[in-house]
Amino acid sequence: MTALSYSGAPDSTPSVDLGFAAATAIEGKSPRSSRCRVAIIGAGPYGLAVASHLRKAGVETRLFGEVMEFWRRHMPNGMLVRSEWAGTHIADPHRALTLDQYEAERGAQLPRPRLPREDFIAYALWYQRRAVPDVEERRVRRLENGDSGFCLTLDDGEVVRAERIVVATGLTYFASRPPAFASVPTALAPHSSDVPDPESFRGLRVAIVGAGQSALELAALLREADAEVEVIARAPEIRWRVGRDWLRRCSGPLRKLIYPPGEAGPPGINWVMEMPSVFRALPAELQRRWTGRAMLPAGSHWLRPRLSGVPMTAGCSIVSASPVRNRVQLLLDDGGEREVDRVVLATGYRVDLDRSPILAPELAQSIRRIGSSPLLGDGFESSIPGLHFVGAAAAESFGALMFFVAGTGYAARAVSRRIANSRPLPVARPARKESDDQQRSVQARQCYGR
Ligand SMILES: Cc1cc2nc3c(=O)[nH]c(=O)nc-3n(C[C@H](O)[C@H](O)[C@H](O)COP(=O)(O)OP(=O)(O)OC[C@H]3O[C@@H](n4cnc5c(N)ncnc54)[C@H](O)[C@@H]3O)c2cc1C
Repeated sequence: MTALSYSGAPDSTPSVDLGFAAATAIEGKSPRSSRCRVAIIGAGPYGLAVASHLRKAGVETRLFGEVMEFWRRHMPNGMLVRSEWAGTHIADPHRALTLDQYEAERGAQLPRPRLPREDFIAYALWYQRRAVPDVEERRVRRLENGDSGFCLTLDDGEVVRAERIVVATGLTYFASRPPAFASVPTALAPHSSDVPDPESFRGLRVAIVGAGQSALELAALLREADAEVEVIARAPEIRWRVGRDWLRRCSGPLRKLIYPPGEAGPPGINWVMEMPSVFRALPAELQRRWTGRAMLPAGSHWLRPRLSGVPMTAGCSIVSASPVRNRVQLLLDDGGEREVDRVVLATGYRVDLDRSPILAPELAQSIRRIGSSPLLGDGFESSIPGLHFVGAAAAESFGALMFFVAGTGYAARAVSRRIANSRPLPVARPARKESDDQQRSVQARQCYGR
């Protein structure tokens, strides 16, 4: 997929961020530049949903990134979507681009009750072709703040100035690696987001670290690929989301009453998470506690039969890990030892603005935070006017629903309302004809000076 057209006015003036200016000076080329009102970074479910809502509201919007890149490259082949059907529609303003509509148009039933990852990606691509056909499949290399708007530098060198930015980069930069693995090469101990092909583990002895869905589903997939697998978890026990099988099979009101579409958390808490405005009204301590409950590591009940016979060691931390002749030696805090061919770190993600390589450090440091996530207000806007965050980065402010596709509706409506109803922030002045050096210094000030 590539993209294509955009509605912003191209600006033939060579433009600049400082690093980029240096790079192009070396290459001896003039960078292109352009501008737009809103630039969205990331074309996953959240970026797509926000783009389609903004366009419906008549706001000029450009969307950057490879469509569904995280789902395509950082989730394993054979994975099944864990969210239920009702919580897996990517929101669109007309409620016309649902999974049901996709199924009707393709003319063949989608697998149920568990949707394969590949079908969800195909659905998202169908959604994108209808709602945002002009996604620009280029990565954003840098985001900076200037006195007349934001500057984005794309990987092909183009500089885009935007009045507002929506960061929708999901979990991309936030994989957690336990410190004990600092000296183990990632080829021997990859994070679960770097295991796209379970078949490549065929015949190997593998320790999977973690107790969440990713750990347990990878254990099942690797075992089915004939790897010898053990799960090692710090959690005191392996938890399963069970006991609702009969409820899931009934389609009546009782089920809907207990399980809202997002299903973020156990009954009761899941309804609070379903309504981010209610979540926001809670005292901070309760928000923190209930988010923790909603995100407790656990496996879906349907994985259980696939894991019978797989050894699981719970309540155990890995105190040291060392590479030894293309293998990994593990020392556990119960005194146990293991030597395995590979370790898969299904140790989750932690949003941390300082780890995002696209945010200029001075911009990242100036964003007010809750912990290491941005503190967001109405319309998912951060303390920097015009800078919005959606998806996982918004979970501290808007609750656990933001980790899931089911949160796209609330987030996209809130962002588009905020932007459509706000007065324009200052936009870049039209560039004057100046010498190259003058242009560089003016534009560098615009990028850095706000
Ligand atoms: C293994 C796993 C399974 C999951 N299963 C489910 C599930 O079943 N149901 C559910 O609701 N949720 C699930 N989730 C959560 C899932 O991540 C979110 O629901 C959803 O993908 C969030 O959408 P997003 O747009 O915020 O992020 P993403 O889908 O991660 O999209 C972000 C996009 O931003 C792009 N990007 C990053 N940096 C740049 C850049 N510099 N320039 C341009 N683009 C960039 C990436 O390419 C990526 O495609 C799962 C997560 C994991 C890790």
